Order: sequence, then C-alpha cells, then structure tokens
Amino acid sequence: MSLKVLIVDDSMVMRKIVVKSLRAAGFDIEAIEAADGKEALKKVNAKVQLIITDWNMPQMDGLSFAKKIKEDKNTKHIPIIMLTTEGSMAKFEEALDCGVDDYVTKPFTPEKLKKKLDKFIN
Ligand SMILES: [Mg+2]
Repeated sequence: MSLKVLIVDDSMVMRKIVVKSLRAAGFDIEAIEAADGKEALKKVNAKVQLIITDWNMPQMDGLSFAKKIKEDKNTKHIPIIMLTTEGSMAKFEEALDCGVDDYVTKPFTPEKLKKKLDKFIN
C-alpha cells in the first residue's frame, strides 16, 4: 500500500522535487499537495501518514500549520518534517515547540530525505 504524504510548500517546483526525491528514495507514495498551511488544513485527514512542510509560506506558515495539526486529536499522530534553510536552523527549537518532529535542510538528496523519514515510517 502506498504511503500517503501531504507536501506543503508555496513553491510548486519544490513540491515536485520532494515528490521526485521520495520516489527516488524508493518510497511508494500517494502525494497530496498544498501551497500553504491554510490549504493543507483543508486537505489533511487522519489517513495521512506523513507531512512534509516548508517553513515560510503565505497565508499560514509552517509553524502555525504544525501547531494546528498537533492540536487536533484526529491529526496529532501524523509526523511532521519541516524543510529548512541553514538560516532557519537556529530557530528550530521554536519549531519543536510547535510540534514539528524533525527537519531536513535544503538542498537535500533522496538519501538524506530517506534517512530522516525512516525513523517515522515502518
Ligand atoms: Mg516557502
């Protein structure tokens, strides 16, 4: 059965890179895409198995989105991986406080992504 992954990023190119990287890493995925936190909240449901989200996005950023996911009893079990740049790494503790489970720094390779995800997927 394929892994249901919600990919949230305001860059369509980045969303495609994430999808491509996951497939290149050997994951059989069903990708659901959203351009920001607000759109992602409309698309998320209890069957989503993993969320990969950008930090900076219009309308609702990754932190506010993560908070909402972890506040909802129907979705709080879903692991959230945040895509970060070096600069936002310094603020990562803030992300942990919002319920983000782990991070991947950009740019990333399929191998790097797989290494992080293996902890959350069985
Ligand atoms: Mg962005």
